[in-house]
Amino acid sequence: MPTATTAAYDVVIIGGGAIGMATAYYLRSNDPGCRVAVVERDPAYTLASTPRASGGVRRLFARPENILLSNFSIPVFERFGELMAVDGECPDIGFRRNGYLFIVPPAGVETLRRNFERQASLGANVAWLDPPALRQRFPSMRVDDLGAAVHSPDDGWLDPYATLMALRRKARALGAELIAAEAATITVRDRLVREVALADGTPLRTNFVVNAAGAWAPLVCAMVGMRAPITPLRRFEHYFECEEPIEPLPYVKDVNRLAFRPEGRGYSGGVPTLHEPRGYNFEADHGYFEAAVWPALAHRFRQFERTKCKATLPGLYDQNDLDGNPIIGPWTGTCENFLMAAGFSGHGLMHAPATGRALAELILRGRYETIDLTRLGWARIERGEPYAEAGII
Ligand SMILES: Cc1cc2nc3c(=O)[nH]c(=O)nc-3n(C[C@H](O)[C@H](O)[C@H](O)COP(=O)(O)OP(=O)(O)OC[C@H]3O[C@@H](n4cnc5c(N)ncnc54)[C@H](O)[C@@H]3O)c2cc1C
Repeated sequence: MPTATTAAYDVVIIGGGAIGMATAYYLRSNDPGCRVAVVERDPAYTLASTPRASGGVRRLFARPENILLSNFSIPVFERFGELMAVDGECPDIGFRRNGYLFIVPPAGVETLRRNFERQASLGANVAWLDPPALRQRFPSMRVDDLGAAVHSPDDGWLDPYATLMALRRKARALGAELIAAEAATITVRDRLVREVALADGTPLRTNFVVNAAGAWAPLVCAMVGMRAPITPLRRFEHYFECEEPIEPLPYVKDVNRLAFRPEGRGYSGGVPTLHEPRGYNFEADHGYFEAAVWPALAHRFRQFERTKCKATLPGLYDQNDLDGNPIIGPWTGTCENFLMAAGFSGHGLMHAPATGRALAELILRGRYETIDLTRLGWARIERGEPYAEAGII
């Protein structure tokens, strides 16, 4: 970390969602002398993506970086109560280790196999299921059009809001300063960020800025003249119930993007689509469940032929339109102390702990020490070379 400074902060984090708070937590827990401010304009998180997430956490990815981010983060979630305890109070984030299941048609088997082998080689507990094994395990599921599935019993889901509150409380207890204000402008001089100014004009001099503004990250990028391919992508999380019983299910996901899990007396999930105009649109389309989600559910489980959608909550992905993966790390070659932590495209909550730790390593030690995230950095964006997942959307 650069010393000899007149800056008031070592790090100013713009955005106090899961990513920003996890970064503050790892900075302060690794270096209690690091002066960290988290600027969050909406401390009630009215529109933030984190509380609107479905809460799924999985190791089922194709790219090693994403598998490793999960390998680190999921055990952290399992110990969250103890790790995030403040004054002896251990938060409960409702972690359910009820597993994840990816199902694919015959055309997807080869890619699923490659991903499965990579996941296993990186230490994930994954099981290969062919259709008969799948039917035996989940008798209600229609499997005749499926080629295979991968089940990861150690994965599951958690309560996103409780997770965010726990991170926030702990980061503050460790000494991060939480500033309830909008970051309005950023001053860059001699290719370095010098200052973040709040909407009321208050200047925050700083050695580093982390852009953890989620779906609003492109607006923060614009403050320094950076054009990132991140766009706000609306998607819906539905809560629905089913009159007929189904055996206990893991988080189920298919390649047509149907993704859902048990929640209370019913289920929570949806069918996100990339064919959605980009923008800050929080309107709920109450016809979407019937048009897109219900047919996909009823196709897979006949019990869902009679289902009732009881709630539809819109939220935004910070979608990286280049490759659906996050942009993590410095704006290399242009402004090295402006760090990105955005573009998570639907998997930011599950990767928040490992991302926070990676950024803390970069800032405090000048390099990645545990997971090398270089390939998720800015250079691929600059080159226009996607680093996408394979077979996983
Ligand atoms: C319906 C839905 C389901 C999802 N399901 C999952 C899932 O199952 N698993 C998973 O891992 N992820 C899931 N996600 C994605 C996940 O929610 C995000 O990747 C993650 O929450 C991103 O966290 P964040 O901290 O970057 O963003 P946010 O939580 O959006 O936080 C960003 C914050 O920045 C603040 N901000 C923005 N601009 C400024 C500014 N100029 N000044 C001050 N503050 C500012 C905002 O107010 C906001 O609070 C889902 C998302 C949606 C919408």
